[in-house]
Amino acid sequence: MEFIESLKCTDAWVKSPSSTSLYLTCPQQWVFAKQFPLMSEGILKGRKVAKWMEKLGGSGLKYEGVQDEDSDLFMACAKAQVFLEDKFPLMQESEVVFGRARIDRILGFDKVIIDFKYTNKIDPGFLQSKFQSYYESWQLYHYAWCVMSERGNWVKEFVDVGIMLISDKPKPGFRFHSWVVSRGEVRTWLESAVKVWEMMEEARVWKNYNSCFNDKYNTECFWYRKCKGGV
Ligand code: SF4
Repeated sequence: MEFIESLKCTDAWVKSPSSTSLYLTCPQQWVFAKQFPLMSEGILKGRKVAKWMEKLGGSGLKYEGVQDEDSDLFMACAKAQVFLEDKFPLMQESEVVFGRARIDRILGFDKVIIDFKYTNKIDPGFLQSKFQSYYESWQLYHYAWCVMSERGNWVKEFVDVGIMLISDKPKPGFRFHSWVVSRGEVRTWLESAVKVWEMMEEARVWKNYNSCFNDKYNTECFWYRKCKGGV
């Protein structure tokens, strides 16, 4: 059996999708994030949304809302849940864990992978490019690999992946988009993933100055001052 074919997503040396994405952005950021965990408002709100979606899907939480400053956002989550139940009525699983990858939801007998994302604002003009960034995301390929290679055997040729995007503005709501990932695409991704995980394992760190400023808003990397020798 070829090396790539024999890999298991539960192997201990396989890194988490979020950690790998950070390493790919800038290895120095990956080091800082381990030393100084970042808790921005957006991350905290994203965690709150993920927790709500988990409860809505897992324990049959009622939809009458919650006493919370974000109760309108909660109702957007509840509507997103109803949408998913209508679209994929068969068999639900919440929070499926494969090694270091945690998939928010796997739905339907055909196993549609769902990832919940929170964004402060949906700009209709940028919605297509927002979803486009997820098509190419490391995280979704990693999830597709987990589902296609159950217990080390490649069991599926194609898998559906979907993004449930929950937002606060212009008013609390959601957008959903799904697409198909093929085994060939996942295999190509896995070949490069192995090389990246090897570099992470060896803790090969450098500064990627191309990532110091966010492209869209030109904001500094969170660790910019520390990285440049400041506080
Ligand atoms: S400031 Fe630039 S080089 Fe330093 S951690 Fe951030 S992205 Fe990397």
